[in-house]
Amino acid sequence: MPFLSPERTCQIVNRMINAGRLDDLLDLLCDEIQALGVADGYLINLLDASGKSLTCLKLRYPTEFQNLEKSYLGYKFALNNGQLNARTMASGEVMRVTEDNATSEEVNILRYWKIREMTGVPLCAPGARPANPTGVLILLKQEGSIPDQDLARVTELVNLFHGSLSRWLRFAHLEMLHEESKASVAENRRHLQFLDEMTSLTSVDKIYELFANELFRQLPLDLISFSLVEDGQMFPRKVVASKPKFESVRREWENYLKQNPYSLDPTSSGSAHVLQRNKVMLFPDYRDIQHLPMALHDRKSLAIVQQARTILISPIRHNKKPIGTFLSFSLDNPVTLSSADLDLIDYLTSFLGTAITNSKLYETSQAQIAEIRHLNEMLEEKVQELAQQASTDQLTGLLNFRAFEQELNKRLHEASRYGGKDSLALALIDIDHFKLFNDTNGHAAGNDILAMVAEEIGRHIRQSDQACRYGGEEFVLILPRCDLEGVRALSERIRASVEARRFETCAGPCSISLSIGCTVYRSGDDRHTLFSRADKALYRAKESGRNTVCAF
Ligand code: GH3
Ligand code: MG
Ligand code: MG
Repeated sequence: MPFLSPERTCQIVNRMINAGRLDDLLDLLCDEIQALGVADGYLINLLDASGKSLTCLKLRYPTEFQNLEKSYLGYKFALNNGQLNARTMASGEVMRVTEDNATSEEVNILRYWKIREMTGVPLCAPGARPANPTGVLILLKQEGSIPDQDLARVTELVNLFHGSLSRWLRFAHLEMLHEESKASVAENRRHLQFLDEMTSLTSVDKIYELFANELFRQLPLDLISFSLVEDGQMFPRKVVASKPKFESVRREWENYLKQNPYSLDPTSSGSAHVLQRNKVMLFPDYRDIQHLPMALHDRKSLAIVQQARTILISPIRHNKKPIGTFLSFSLDNPVTLSSADLDLIDYLTSFLGTAITNSKLYETSQAQIAEIRHLNEMLEEKVQELAQQASTDQLTGLLNFRAFEQELNKRLHEASRYGGKDSLALALIDIDHFKLFNDTNGHAAGNDILAMVAEEIGRHIRQSDQACRYGGEEFVLILPRCDLEGVRALSERIRASVEARRFETCAGPCSISLSIGCTVYRSGDDRHTLFSRADKALYRAKESGRNTVCAF
């Protein structure tokens, strides 16, 4: 005969329907248990998503212990320990425990909580076999025992709740899994981003920082130093602190490491030992080992880093071989590192070694590229210098005979293609009686004259004109876009200014004169026809008494 009337059942079901989440439903169940008044306290323990334990989601202790309720909320009960929760779940039956049938642990619990009887009521569907409870309701009775008919009422109530309870529980589990998977996706994304950043970094310095920050993010470590093997020693490359408040100890430790690079002798330091063994070394708490013998180098490090607790030393590997180590401390508090944490460190350090090696290669190649670029620039300058030397006459700085020929060919080509008449003029300049000058004043003074005549010529011509030293004391001017009158006038100006000038030579002040023959391009001209007309004009100038200009 059910104790709940149809009206009361309807009332409860209505309230159950309106419960918006698992917690509301459990509150409702608590109210009803409370209303029954059959026990002095109770716990509602429901299955975890893993199915391996129960979690206490609601509880009510006897009055004198109510201040402890908060600490036991969320308490986990294993299902493999043979205690009341586990037995009730396994059997799917109501179980009563008193000192007469209790396990030794249960006896302790009964005495501690001053309880006479504990009863486990499985939360399952009525008559279901196997029962597959979703949890256990534990009833606590301080005096005497709960009568059977009262337990029947509790069971009836629990049966009524079971359907909704199991659905809401499943929903809560799904929600939790969803949250967990969201968190793990976010973590994976962050980790990938870290790996991506590490591989794209080309500065070793930044790699150490990024790695240290990732380590600090994942594990509560505070100080880390990176050292690399070089020339038979291990040199500190970077020391990083997790928080600004550790900056001064970071700096002090870094200074010490810089002044005292590690020897590679495995007995000289923990780092050298780790390097040689290529294995991570972990000291969970320095306080437990500080009285033991220790390498002097480590002793000094630990004297600087006074608050060191957990010590972790790991090789930095490239292609599985150690290229250095990192040494990390937790400060103030020891850290618990699981084997999964150590696996993570192991994996990250191989990655670190590869990233360091790659970016060192990158830095070296960048330096080499800069060096090659610099050498190329120097070579380019040399080539230009040589090219200039090859086309320049050393004494006068004008184009030499070879360059003159090239230049004339180019201009002739332009004139024949685009210019035609008045597009190119040529002037042939020869110093008069220069043999005599040399004989009189000396070859050195002759050289002075050649240089100064070249300078004089340069003063009169345009930028687009070219002056060349054609032979010993002969010069030739190539004048684009110049007609016969133009070349004659220019030649005359040059002749007159040379005649008027007193040349300061090594043999004293001297005078000389020039004869100049000039001509212009005529259609069909080549190098020889053009040049030979200028030569003829020069010949005429010489014939007509020198120090004169003739045009042809
Ligand atoms: P002309 O009036 O007919 O041109 O008589 P010239 O003496 O100038 O002509 P010639 O061709 O007989 O002599 C040219 C002289 O130029 C011969 C040589 O001593 C001199 N000479 C040629 N090259 C150089 C040089 O580089 N330095 C010096 N100092 N003299 C040179
Ligand atoms: Mg001559
Ligand atoms: Mg001459």
